[in-house]
Amino acid sequence: MLKTYQTCPKKFFFKYIERVNVPLSGAPFEKGKKIHALANYFLQGINISRLETALSDNEREVWQSLLNNPFFQKKCLKSEYQLSCKISDFWVGGRLDAVVFDGDDYFILDYKTGSVPKNPEYDVQTMVYLLSLDRYLNGKYNKLSFVYINLKDKKNHVIEFNSVLKAEYEKRIEEICNKIVSDNLYNCNEQNCERCEYSKFCQL
Ligand code: SF4
Repeated sequence: MLKTYQTCPKKFFFKYIERVNVPLSGAPFEKGKKIHALANYFLQGINISRLETALSDNEREVWQSLLNNPFFQKKCLKSEYQLSCKISDFWVGGRLDAVVFDGDDYFILDYKTGSVPKNPEYDVQTMVYLLSLDRYLNGKYNKLSFVYINLKDKKNHVIEFNSVLKAEYEKRIEEICNKIVSDNLYNCNEQNCERCEYSKFCQL
């Protein structure tokens, strides 16, 4: 919701205030969904050998790349796990792909079959997840990091959490939430309307 608001307040209005549902083609998300589901079963120790046989060649290659990733090979604490925390007056949260650990070092994993956000350190997802896990662990960790695993170019983007980032993240999240509650115009600030699912509807 926060990300949608950042992209376009008008889109936020359609989606979350007016609750206008626009059918979307699921095709572009199919590969990502399969890899996320497999990863979740795998981390829970479920035998996935039969599911693996249903993967296409490209999906198998992507899956293998995740299996080979050193972060994915760490011990799993949680998989597909819903976490939230309260920032000022606002509850924020989301569903993490996985949390893994190595001794007292914890890593939030986010698998990307597409691309990593442009400014990953300050992406809403990064900020909310790190703040939520920090609260969940209650400071009982040595290091806490967010790892975007890019399965396309096989690179990891690691963001290490610290007290400076924590204060900055809380400030930014609170600002976005305050903007949402005080907004009653929901004006557009998006330049890429042609890629928006509400484009036809929006221009009526
Ligand atoms: S079409 Fe453009 S202005 Fe309208 S909701 Fe989508 S992004 Fe916003």
